[in-house]
Amino acid sequence: MRAAEQVLVIFGDQLMRDHPGLALLDPERDAVLMMEVDAEQQEGPSHKQRTALFFAAMRHYALELIERGIRVRYVRVEARANTQSFGGEVERAVAALSPTKLLAMFPGDRRVLDEIESWADRFKIEVDLLDDPHFFTTPDQFSAWAADRKSLVMEYWYREQRKATGYLMDATGKPAGGEWNYDKDNRQSFKKTPTPRPPYRPQVDEITRDVIDLVNARYAEAPGTLDADTFIWPVDADQAHRALDGFIGKRLARFGPYEDAMWTEQPFLYHSMLSSSLNLHLLDPRVCCEKAIAAYEAGAAPLNSVEGFVRQLIGWREYIRGVYWHEDAGYRDRNFLDQHGRLPDFYWTADTDMACLRDCLGAVVEHSWSHHIPRLMVICNFAMIAGVHPRAVGDWFYGMYVDSLDWATTPNTIGMGMHADGVRAATKSGKATGVERWPVVGTKPYAASGKYISRMSNYCEHCRYDLKKRAGDPDDDSPPCPFNVFYWDFLIRHEALFSANNRMAMIMKNVHRMKPQEKTQVTVSATKYRQRLGIE
Ligand code: SF4
Repeated sequence: MRAAEQVLVIFGDQLMRDHPGLALLDPERDAVLMMEVDAEQQEGPSHKQRTALFFAAMRHYALELIERGIRVRYVRVEARANTQSFGGEVERAVAALSPTKLLAMFPGDRRVLDEIESWADRFKIEVDLLDDPHFFTTPDQFSAWAADRKSLVMEYWYREQRKATGYLMDATGKPAGGEWNYDKDNRQSFKKTPTPRPPYRPQVDEITRDVIDLVNARYAEAPGTLDADTFIWPVDADQAHRALDGFIGKRLARFGPYEDAMWTEQPFLYHSMLSSSLNLHLLDPRVCCEKAIAAYEAGAAPLNSVEGFVRQLIGWREYIRGVYWHEDAGYRDRNFLDQHGRLPDFYWTADTDMACLRDCLGAVVEHSWSHHIPRLMVICNFAMIAGVHPRAVGDWFYGMYVDSLDWATTPNTIGMGMHADGVRAATKSGKATGVERWPVVGTKPYAASGKYISRMSNYCEHCRYDLKKRAGDPDDDSPPCPFNVFYWDFLIRHEALFSANNRMAMIMKNVHRMKPQEKTQVTVSATKYRQRLGIE
């Protein structure tokens, strides 16, 4: 490739057709650099579908750029026996193209930002870091909002975004329908087998098929399944828009009421499944919100469904990204509850006799995806109450989900799921003592016993464990539900800490009322279950 004056580096999660760097390029003199690297696999295991989606989407995007007359230096992963890193590829590109300037858009990963910030010194070159216009807000805006608050409650952030965007606001500046949030209408479970319309399924073309073969060969040991016949993820903006239209037209109306419900062998239900397209920037969240609001205004979807969907996009998504950049680099290693257990092996295979975890983990192995309740209230909840180390859980989520990026996965897992993002005071003989800072994302842990899972799904109807028991031996004829055992053990283990949290007061009263002998029975049962599952 001939020399280029400016090189715009586009990362795999920045595949927007209106990428702000493209407008700054002269097609005659400048070029785009895109790189497939093995780094994701080197960070830890990455689900085959996640890796395949990245590479397939990048290859489709690069072709679109070439069709638009833009010069692209595209490094395929198979071009190197061992592609080391983004930095190594940028170094090769600088040597080959001799640019005077490198351009890059603000990334979604702190490690990538560090990398970009090293280029000026390393390559003795001018580097321009561009804002990412995909998001509604910037990290600086979030930090300004967070600056004088004692606690960062998402609901207040969300209301500010509703006002700023004008989404679902009436002419008098009040929220549509009079309420900011319709969660109270969105906790229904199914009384019989649901029959949702299936999600949009893109055609798998030759490019994607080649990538699937490549990933299956190159990363044969990676977790998860990958097959062209079952690959469901949009790989370009056109497919992502069709997926959005399919959701708005076929599933949005019932999304709200059944947002939290689960059902055996039905992982998709009424969910949008747009998170991977959004996170790769194939879809603009404004378009998603505005189409959903148009459906509400046309009477095609109820307010509780549309408000819930809009809140995910302008509330949770922006809030989680804000927390990621507002907190420090040590966030991913926080361990507020001082838990150190191993992640059980069945998280990688779904090979367990717990019906709920078998189904929820099975969906992740098969599709690299599950909706937010299996993530939070089954998979993460189990790991938290069983005492697994939060970093092990964070790494698992990061590797296994098709939509995972560091900015999204780390606060959702370490903060929301594991209640680990607080800071404990100085330790005495290795034990965490007082509280220096309470957790950021959740004011209390999202911990639940089997009762919650039974209420929101049909899993317990065909499970060998006894939902009514909270203590006993795993070898009993009718052993207690492990969620019950671990839930009560979790509250007992952290009794002193949780008793200092007002939001836990009601729950902790039940623990205070337990007789010492009852507590011991739970503790002994939990130890046996942890040993059985290889957690300790
Ligand atoms: Fe899960 Fe317990 Fe229900 Fe079995 S009984 S499905 S382990 S919650």
